[in-house]
Amino acid sequence: MQTFSRRALMGAMTTVGLAAQTAAQAKATPAPLTTASYPLRQVRLKPSPFLTAIEANQRYLLSLESDRFLHNFRAGAGLDPKGKVYGGWEARGIAGHSLGHYLSALSLIYAQTGDVRFRERAAYILAELKTIQAKHGDGYAGGTTVTRDGKEVDGKVVFEEIRKGDIRTKGFDLNGGWVPVYTYHKVFAGALDAHLHAGLADGLSVAQGLGDYFGTIIEGLSDAQVQEILRAEHGGITESYAELYALTGAARWKSLAERLRHKAIVDALAEGRDDLAGKHANTQIPKIVGSARLYELTQNQADAKTALFFFETVTKDHSYAIGGNSEYEHFGKPKQLSARLGQQTCECCNSYNMLRLTRHLYGWSGDAAYFDYFERAHLNHIMAQQDPQTGMFIYFTPLMPSFRRVYSNPTEDFWCCVGSGMESHAKHGESIYWKRGNRTIVNLYYASTLDASEAKLDMDTAFPHGDTVTITVRKAPRELALRVPGWATAATVTVNGKAAGKRDGGYLILTGLKSGDRVDLKLPMPVRVEAIPDDPRLIAFVSGPLVLAADYGPDSQPFDSFDPVAVTDAATPTLTPAGGLHSYTLADQSRPKALMFKPFYAQRHNRSAVYIRHFGQAEWVVEEPKYLAAAEARSELQARTIDVIRLGEQQPETDHAFQGTANTQAISHISDPGRVVQKGYFEFDLATTPGPLVLQVSYSANDRNKDFRLLIDGQLLTSEKLEGPRGPGRNVKTYDLPLPLTRGKAKLRVRFEADKDQWAAVYEARLLRLKAGTA
Ligand SMILES: [Zn+2]
Repeated sequence: MQTFSRRALMGAMTTVGLAAQTAAQAKATPAPLTTASYPLRQVRLKPSPFLTAIEANQRYLLSLESDRFLHNFRAGAGLDPKGKVYGGWEARGIAGHSLGHYLSALSLIYAQTGDVRFRERAAYILAELKTIQAKHGDGYAGGTTVTRDGKEVDGKVVFEEIRKGDIRTKGFDLNGGWVPVYTYHKVFAGALDAHLHAGLADGLSVAQGLGDYFGTIIEGLSDAQVQEILRAEHGGITESYAELYALTGAARWKSLAERLRHKAIVDALAEGRDDLAGKHANTQIPKIVGSARLYELTQNQADAKTALFFFETVTKDHSYAIGGNSEYEHFGKPKQLSARLGQQTCECCNSYNMLRLTRHLYGWSGDAAYFDYFERAHLNHIMAQQDPQTGMFIYFTPLMPSFRRVYSNPTEDFWCCVGSGMESHAKHGESIYWKRGNRTIVNLYYASTLDASEAKLDMDTAFPHGDTVTITVRKAPRELALRVPGWATAATVTVNGKAAGKRDGGYLILTGLKSGDRVDLKLPMPVRVEAIPDDPRLIAFVSGPLVLAADYGPDSQPFDSFDPVAVTDAATPTLTPAGGLHSYTLADQSRPKALMFKPFYAQRHNRSAVYIRHFGQAEWVVEEPKYLAAAEARSELQARTIDVIRLGEQQPETDHAFQGTANTQAISHISDPGRVVQKGYFEFDLATTPGPLVLQVSYSANDRNKDFRLLIDGQLLTSEKLEGPRGPGRNVKTYDLPLPLTRGKAKLRVRFEADKDQWAAVYEARLLRLKAGTA
């Protein structure tokens, strides 16, 4: 039996903990692609949370109809649609991104499971896209739409405008179209994935057509004009051109990929500057994946530096314990995370893209430290994204204590994260097994088999819910490398019961294996404390690979207490085992009650908290009254409430006779649903009682300097600006209602109206008695 420790336990103060090793790499000149993953078709998952997720996703993907995703594509080409357009984002100008993700997901699931139904669907979509491209005659195929002269028209018009040098963007739109290049890229990437993962030759020809059409636009514009286009979110368009170059060797695609580098972002990163604060996070990550792919193909050092520095700074300075990043979809200042724990933390697309980036960078060096990040984000964020009962996905991963996860509707949402979720949960076997020369590497301990010509392995484990791994060798590779996770300081390994192997960096290397050998790995999973980078008293608990979270009870129940805290004079609170791996309690160290801690990812229908504030006994004596006062205020509010509407929720809106113009959309992808104030109006009834009344409205604290009016029964109550500094959470405002507005009425009609689009989120409106007990 051999005990080893790859490196010191990750420090208590690090979030993601790749720091020193990647900093050194950023200065080095990595050789591209020394290490590659085994193709998905050679990996099969065994019963595990990963296989369960794949199966749930299979059911969801099969429930969807390709013809509905293709509706706009056919209509735009002058062909009769064969299915009705889906709801949600599919009906809002951005149709097409879902088709692209769907095509990728079908191809990946086919590779992951061998189920031909998924390949057949991918082939059908490609055949349709070929027909659509032929009808356009220039390689174009797209589902976006845009408004021109008050009418919704095919989004190709935007591309033809920019071809002529008419380029207008405020960052997301392009000539009034909602991220058309982003959407175009998703279809492009889907076609490439169908070629790469499902072996469908049509995928390459569809991709070449798409590349050609957009290429002729870019080739006719100046560099300054191209950079102007790139100010609008454009997904991984660079990566797709780079991939097309990799597949065909045609220099034209390389040159297009290089011209599509967004210099305003990548140049600073290549120089090692973190200018990410305030930037939309997931707009940037795919650009960096493009840089990584270009480096692999051209050995351009600036591209490598861009990718390495970005990875280092995002994982070290912008990531939460679960491996995700962003609040309100944006990066903040480096290491400033403690005030950014809202309900809109950790957009799931971001980790989908960060894991793709990680695979590239790992491939250059084979450094096991990359898999400490990969494992963290995959287990604690991606696996938290899907409800395996329904196959539905979340958009944000709320880290604000007590907030619940909100899942997609199968046919009425189609957010970006539904698209990336379809892909993330189609390929859980993708990064388990890797190959470097004669070495077969196991980076993730997910129960599975590998069936390659030079290595056949059978891995049995309950990981991450078990701390032992057994690998039965069916055909022995020359070398077998087992990753020693950063958290596994006391890992041990045996071959046929005897200590074996030697250390090489983050791996234990076994040689001389033969068929039938049994390799046993033990990975003890101690609990450790990780503080958020800018506040040592705001802590998370991590058990081996899994981030734990306090269980606040089922999300069907309201949360009516104060944010739980840990109270102890010890340096850090201590968890006590509560039966089973990853199950702990803070017992009498927590307030207001004994808190149970369980893996965060699996608390899919619980209110939970990853971060807990730690107080000493004397501090708590000072702080407790404030916490109690906050809880008291909440219950007093309940007592004063006459009527309340939660906007964006179907039943409360129906109950309150809600009406509004079409663009005052419901926000349905976050814990707190809401409505946005846009040009037009929305209105609803609230019940009243006699006496002085107050209207309380909860806005997003992130929305400031807006311009709209509140009316009561057609009379102006106030012109609202929402002034003040932006922040997380809610901005709660109260408006005194003059007695003449309310006297003798059983209900009030409350109306929000604006002359121009404002995008101010309103979560809730509440009618209150002026103070408790007044009637
Ligand atoms: Zn997303």
